Amino acid sequence: MASSSVEPMLINGQWLTTERSFSVTNPANGQELALVSDGGAQHATDAVAAAHSAFAGWSATTNHHRAAILYRAWELMCEHKASLAQLMTAEQGKPLKAATNEVQYAADFLLWFAEEAKRIYGETIPSARADQRFIVQHHPVGVVAAVTPWNYPVSMITRKLAPALAAGCTVVLKPAEATPLCAIEVFKLLQEAGVPDGVINLVTTSDPAPVGEVFCTDERVKKLTFTGSTQVGKMLAANAAPQLKRVSMELGGHAPFIVYKDADPVHAAKGASLVKFLNTGQACICPNRLFVHKDIAEPFLQTLVSRVGAMRAGDGMEQGVAIGPLVNDKALEKVDKQVTDATAKGAEVLCGGKRLSEPDLADGHFYAPTVLSGVREDMLIYREETFGPVAPVIVFDDDDDVITMANDTHYGLAAYVYTRDIATAMRSFEQLQFGIIGINDINPTSAAAPFGGMNNSGLGREGAREGLMEYLETKLGGFSI
Ligand code: NAD
Repeated sequence: MASSSVEPMLINGQWLTTERSFSVTNPANGQELALVSDGGAQHATDAVAAAHSAFAGWSATTNHHRAAILYRAWELMCEHKASLAQLMTAEQGKPLKAATNEVQYAADFLLWFAEEAKRIYGETIPSARADQRFIVQHHPVGVVAAVTPWNYPVSMITRKLAPALAAGCTVVLKPAEATPLCAIEVFKLLQEAGVPDGVINLVTTSDPAPVGEVFCTDERVKKLTFTGSTQVGKMLAANAAPQLKRVSMELGGHAPFIVYKDADPVHAAKGASLVKFLNTGQACICPNRLFVHKDIAEPFLQTLVSRVGAMRAGDGMEQGVAIGPLVNDKALEKVDKQVTDATAKGAEVLCGGKRLSEPDLADGHFYAPTVLSGVREDMLIYREETFGPVAPVIVFDDDDDVITMANDTHYGLAAYVYTRDIATAMRSFEQLQFGIIGINDINPTSAAAPFGGMNNSGLGREGAREGLMEYLETKLGGFSI
């Protein structure tokens, strides 16, 4: 698949290549997939200028017109589902089935916001004055700068682009340096769907900082939307603050997964094995602390270990592979460090616990799917986001304590609860300080539902009606008649 030509980026409707390029590799085997244009601050500034010029025209189109384009983009993405999924597996590493599911999820945002575009309603408000009428309208915020991650390289793009376009905003997007190829394909589809020149712009780069600096400091950018680490998100939000840019931040998590005494331990363990190892643990909603009641700990662990131990790691293109590679060596080292720290402090490795270096895996970034028991508060893994295939299990015996333990984190994105008691379910839902809570459910996400976190997990929501409001200003008119 490697080629000597350089993949282009999109500015003002033109696909252009730069002299400098960077290499994109397959994380399963280290092979080069392509060279990609390596943009810098000037490209970001040019892209912002293009988006700024295009804003007046695009924001004046009807909501129905924008809806029709998004609907066409949805059709095109569905038509190209197989090829996009294959590209994603090669570039990001997730198994082909998971990549196919992600493309469907990405397309869902195009369809959902195509529909929502037509429902950007205003309202009238009764006044206390007989001569006065209030009306409220919602207007697009303006030029949006978007930064997206590598772990969901197609859906994190449509989750931002679709509502921004529906609202009437124009966009400059910088994808993660590990996954620009998926971004390029998404932009081609949107262009083919009829998004006009300058309305969407793509700046690829191996060095995100100068591009991020333009996004934060160019006055023409009115909104910054970011998905990635809490550390970078906070830095960008601080940098955008002097201009009071609007920001949406979808950051890290440290999800608790609580299994109460009355839960079915086998059902809960199956759920844990699916959601913990989703995308090889590289999802912000992956559980990072599995709290299991002592009375059912044994059957829970038995099921969990037998399922996790049977997961095959390898190239996501191969049939039967459940665990793909991690994104890079740094990610491997972080996982390894957390496991080494936990075992040194007394945790027990029930399966996995090491880097995989068999001949067919040695050139990729593979870590064995791992279950740790006896995890305690003083271990790194108890507080740090793992972003890898390790399930840390903590046994508890007091239902009142477990909510306090679950809330004892600076993050607040996802949480999971397994119980058969409706009162326990409702109490947990109300008391857990997290933005997304799955009750006997490991997939509480949808284009129709608000996604986002509290505290260090971020600001704002994506998807749903809330996801559209992030790109709209509220305007009040007071009319004296
Ligand atoms: P990261 O925050 O460094 O990267 C995410 C995005 O931010 C990428 O597009 C990257 O190019 C960009 N970025 C990095 N520095 C930037 C800067 N100075 N200016 C502008 N953009 C910048 O995350 P990572 O290093 O890829 O992953 C590390 C950790 O981030 C993970 O372990 C995980 O905790 C978290 N993460 C979370 C999500 C999520 O879905 N919330 C996604 C990816 C990573």
